[in-house]
Amino acid sequence: MQKSEQLFERAQKTIPGGVNSPVRAFKAVGGTPRFITKADGPYIVDADGKQYIDYVQSWGPMVLGHNNEKIRNAVVAAAQNGLSFGAPTEAEIIMAEKVKELVPSMEMVRMVNSGTEATMSAIRLARGYTGKNKLVKFEGCYHGHADSLLVKAGSGALTLGVPSSPGVPADVAQHTLTVEFNNLDSVKAIFAECGDDIACIIVEPVAGNMNCIPPVDGFLEGLRAICDEYGAVLIFDEVMTGFRVSRGGAQERYGITPDLTCLGKVIGGGMPVGAFGGKRDILTHIAPTGPIYQAGTLSGNPIAMAAGLAALDQLAEPGLYDSIFASTQKLVEGFQTIANEFSIPLTTNSAGSMFGIFFTDVEKVVNYQQAINCNQAQFKQFYHGMLDEGVYLAPASYEAGFVSKLHDDAIITATLDAARKVFANL
Ligand code: PMP
Repeated sequence: MQKSEQLFERAQKTIPGGVNSPVRAFKAVGGTPRFITKADGPYIVDADGKQYIDYVQSWGPMVLGHNNEKIRNAVVAAAQNGLSFGAPTEAEIIMAEKVKELVPSMEMVRMVNSGTEATMSAIRLARGYTGKNKLVKFEGCYHGHADSLLVKAGSGALTLGVPSSPGVPADVAQHTLTVEFNNLDSVKAIFAECGDDIACIIVEPVAGNMNCIPPVDGFLEGLRAICDEYGAVLIFDEVMTGFRVSRGGAQERYGITPDLTCLGKVIGGGMPVGAFGGKRDILTHIAPTGPIYQAGTLSGNPIAMAAGLAALDQLAEPGLYDSIFASTQKLVEGFQTIANEFSIPLTTNSAGSMFGIFFTDVEKVVNYQQAINCNQAQFKQFYHGMLDEGVYLAPASYEAGFVSKLHDDAIITATLDAARKVFANL
């Protein structure tokens, strides 16, 4: 750990907290973040040369495993022709057509550079299109760091949102209404109160930012029905779930069609990419065909498109998803069995290749309150134990884990062997 320690100390002098995104700093688990030098397949390697089985996967993009040869080659080939033009390219058309093929509700697609940009732009579009101001989001769902989305619930079910970060004006936060995930009654109540001014519902169809919480039966259907009743836009934030919980995302997995979809992570194959899209009727309202403004100097960047297309092309491999889902299942069932053997209260969730481990005696975790009430001290101990054993999990208990194509049987078995040692000492 010596090199990581030195790098962390040096980083903190010129980078706030030593990191360019807060969760990387290991605040939630304590200790020194590992500085990474390279990654390959299911592994990452830190500055001290220690190799870990990686379940973070750059926070989701690496569904094919790290350092995928076809993606790497596509990036190198594209780079030979120049890094950015600021003018349209054919690759952007191919990307939009590909997204539409895989996610048919996205009749039109606009590329951006991050998940944050995708959700921020989709919300502006929903507001501009409906002429309404308010948006409904769910407690524990994260949609990036745009002002309107950094808002937590007020004290009562029907109170207005309050900023969850200094720098977000209360005047902005008041238009964000936060309700309970997996609780349709709370959504109905808020629409009954102010449905006339609600532009949209934005939801992670499988919540992946309060650990991993899949939708309960009827939840997504209910959101669709409420939006239809009130003329609100239903936005699925599939930045995490897109091309991951199914090739066509959560909307394919659960059979619910949103009006707008936000994508990120897998769609960039590891490059900084996001996208939003949906119904043609709505998308034509953005500039230059409509009055709602949205733009980007590097949007649709040729290197990013090459990486993303090389990733999406490989998702057609027969049996790919079944195999990743089976690995994920084996992993969570293994964790559960071992925890039971050692009488450690634990429950798991999974959806496709996303999973969550909760240190709690609650049987099934379905909402934020249950997720935050889990045993943090035990998670921290587990986390560092796994790290010592060479398994890299997300350094916070509120993050979903990810399994890739290259987490094969041997990798899952090695992970569970590590877990057995760690659980024995909890
Ligand atoms: N939406 C969801 C569901 C996410 O998980 C994230 C990032 N983890 C974002 C949006 C924001 O994406 P980005 O970090 O690329 O801005």
